Amino acid sequence: MSGFILGIDLGTTNSLVGVVDSGFPILLADAAGERLTPSAVHVAADGTLTVGAAALRRRVLEPSRTITSVKRLIGHRAGEAGWEPPYDLKALGLTPVEVSAAILGHLKSVAESALEQEVTRAVITVPAFFNDAQRAATREAGERAGLTVERILSEPTAAALAYGLDKLEGRRRIAVYDLGGGTFDVSVLELREGVFEVLATAGDTRLGGDDLDRSLAVAIWKKAAPEGSPDWENLEMGKRVRLIEAAEGVKKTLSTQAVAPVELPFFLEAWSLAVEVTRAELDALARPWVEATRKHCLRALSDAGLKPAELDEVVLVGGSTRMPLVRERVAEWFGREPCTTQHPDEAIALGAVIQGGVLSGSLRQVLLLDVTPLSLGIETFGGLMNVIIPRNSTLPCKAGELFTNAVSGQASMLIRVLQGERELAKDNWELGRVEVPFTPGPKGSARVGVQFALNVDGLLEVLTRDTVTGVDTVLAIQRTAVDVNDEAVEKMIAESVEFALEDMSERQWTEAALKGRELIEAVKAALDQLGEAISTEESAALSALAEAVERELQATTHQVAALKAANQALDDATQELAVRLIEQAMEASLARRGLAD
Ligand code: AMP
Repeated sequence: MSGFILGIDLGTTNSLVGVVDSGFPILLADAAGERLTPSAVHVAADGTLTVGAAALRRRVLEPSRTITSVKRLIGHRAGEAGWEPPYDLKALGLTPVEVSAAILGHLKSVAESALEQEVTRAVITVPAFFNDAQRAATREAGERAGLTVERILSEPTAAALAYGLDKLEGRRRIAVYDLGGGTFDVSVLELREGVFEVLATAGDTRLGGDDLDRSLAVAIWKKAAPEGSPDWENLEMGKRVRLIEAAEGVKKTLSTQAVAPVELPFFLEAWSLAVEVTRAELDALARPWVEATRKHCLRALSDAGLKPAELDEVVLVGGSTRMPLVRERVAEWFGREPCTTQHPDEAIALGAVIQGGVLSGSLRQVLLLDVTPLSLGIETFGGLMNVIIPRNSTLPCKAGELFTNAVSGQASMLIRVLQGERELAKDNWELGRVEVPFTPGPKGSARVGVQFALNVDGLLEVLTRDTVTGVDTVLAIQRTAVDVNDEAVEKMIAESVEFALEDMSERQWTEAALKGRELIEAVKAALDQLGEAISTEESAALSALAEAVERELQATTHQVAALKAANQALDDATQELAVRLIEQAMEASLARRGLAD
């Protein structure tokens, strides 16, 4: 038996199945390449069951033998009227659990074909409002399909998992707004130590995108119908269905465009329907429909005892949340931009897959290792942190830089490998160090390349190369660079923000101090070289300027501005000296040549 645990979104209209494979959550496609399986079952006269798209194709011929929306028969919201299906399940000799089992069995075989092995374990999602009996019925359906149901997961919890919200620290509250084709659900969850609890749930099992398709179809017909043609009520069923299908297409187009065309050739004998619909026209129809979801949002919040401002995140799920109007209204009601980065139709299935991956133990590692939590770098002159791989870089990755010697005659360089977000090396963590030898030479003559390579497991290898001699040194950091606990990472990041200003001025000071020391050394060397060629007053003036820099360098409190000003004064004064040195050198060489002549 394989270690795979399937994640299944058993939906009212469509279902999805997936698995964590090689560390990645993926949704599986059937032989036709489709990931969405219609939750439809056809029952042939001899009792043979056909599931999915094939069942829907048979619905045209045998509508009373094709079962759809069976999930509505397993459970509906308390207080809402039951749903009358357009088929007689009893007459077909089946129970809702058996029909659900047929769908789950089909999804199991889709997964087994895709994975080329038997899979017997699954996580299945159910609406948050499903009670214990309805959850038990879903579990039973899974077992009848030959699956060990490892967990029955609430749909909003699955959506939150898909968004990685279980990684949030502390006590968090999340609202999940799920507007699909036929149903609307809103739930408020609380996350405590990585576990979600549904605090409240509300919604309407008869509210969804389908309603909007119908009202848009009616509006299109009103706008386009030629003189003397029947009104909507009296239009043939087939034509109404065609218009509703076209309206859905228009609605989807208007989620990304301002205008969408509707073209139905030969809609009424020789007459073709051709009209344009604008986003504004759709929004006018959609507004009351979106507003109808608001009272459920308020209800869920009040049941959870929360104000919108007390929520940490709002997650959008369901195809209809692709509509800009829906996003805009939700953002306004909840006072924040909702999370929309996940595929709204796949978020629930993805969450089920992730839960399955966590339960089977195949996910935890990779999820934690996919980015570097902290920056990696080395210490450079003056104790500064030089970042080579910034934090949040995706693994695997490689980056490098070229360094030189700060002191003349230096024969080696100590590379300290650091991890952290602070500007000063001493505030970051040292992962390792390596001494890189190189050919001694004047300051700035060495060329040492440092390359960091992080593999998929987060292991860091530091390669250093003396580019003059081509000699390499490799340092494998034993401690996994990303293997630091979340708390320590949080603290490091928090401190880097807290100390950002101080760190910045400390960096500036260090850089100015390096420059000051360089200048003092240069001035001393120049004065020695010039000797008699420079007047005592001039020499004293330069020395005084050098002392001023020295005083700033020695000061107990670091004054970046004062040090920079002293540096500048000394630098200006030495410019003239530099010119003098060049002239002197030229004269000397001329004099030598004169002697030689
Ligand atoms: P679901 O039940 O989550 O699969 O959502 C299906 C509903 O989402 C249907 O009513 C679709 O018409 C609607 N839908 C899908 N894509 C879009 C889109 N791009 N814009 C507006 N509605 C959409």
